Amino acid sequence: MTEKTDKILSLKKEKNIYITSHLYLMPEVSKVSDFTGDTLAIVKDSMNVEQDTIVVCAVRFIAEMVKIMSPQKKVILAHPDATCPMAGQILPFRLRAYREEHPDDAIVAYINTTAALKAECDACVTTATAVDVCSKLPNERILFIPDRNIGEKIQRGTGKQVETWNCYCPIHNSVSYEDIKLAKELWSNAKVVAHLGCREEVCIAADFCGAAGQIYEYCKEQQEVIIAAEVSLGKRLQEEYPDKIIHTLIPDLLTCNHMKLTSIDTIYRVLFEHYGTEIELPDDVMGRARKSVWNMLEV
Ligand code: SF4
Repeated sequence: MTEKTDKILSLKKEKNIYITSHLYLMPEVSKVSDFTGDTLAIVKDSMNVEQDTIVVCAVRFIAEMVKIMSPQKKVILAHPDATCPMAGQILPFRLRAYREEHPDDAIVAYINTTAALKAECDACVTTATAVDVCSKLPNERILFIPDRNIGEKIQRGTGKQVETWNCYCPIHNSVSYEDIKLAKELWSNAKVVAHLGCREEVCIAADFCGAAGQIYEYCKEQQEVIIAAEVSLGKRLQEEYPDKIIHTLIPDLLTCNHMKLTSIDTIYRVLFEHYGTEIELPDDVMGRARKSVWNMLEV
């Protein structure tokens, strides 16, 4: 452990602060975290935290989710500029206009959206819960925002008519079918795993397609894998399982720099220099967003 890591660990104990971090951050961040997981796991875990202050090492929409589900806590986003470029691609007024024109449709938000967007939706889903939540909705037509690639999987999985707009995760959408084909030729013994945010043809060509946490569990059971998902997943698995052969497809393309903004130095500054942004949201936005999030947590 470095001197900085030691100082963080002792000050967070002294100040009674809880640190939670996303799987896409560097493994050294996990070493000072009380919990590390994918978005849904972070939100569920934070609902049982005893400490009054939670530092979220991830992007802003995740810190907003933690605040929405634990409004009595002080929630700090460790790096003020850590935002997901997909989460705010749509403005709330577009959803209000859509609802007026299509009163019978359900509007469903991917978890990777701002609190203001979640507040306009009927339900919120993660990659892991998307098909289940949408199947249970009584509506035959659904507008799914923002990730069109996940919307296509919901259409295939539910048989419902799913409208999408032209938004996607720039990281996972960058993988092409040709990339998968070439990788399979190069490493013919490896299983191919892809994130659900990848394009449809990529997920169909893969041996397994899932959310970050599901990919993690699947890879633990394999000897050799090619991972078409954010680069940190492969790095983390390789560190924990040095005997496995783990190839990350195009690591430069599959790096989410927004998640990577938060480092050990960032956390040190949060604890020692009051760095970071405290999440504050209007009560009515939190109340309406919480309703759509509950639909996801109850699945
Ligand atoms: Fe957003 Fe994609 Fe980065 Fe996740 S990996 S935070 S969806 S840009």
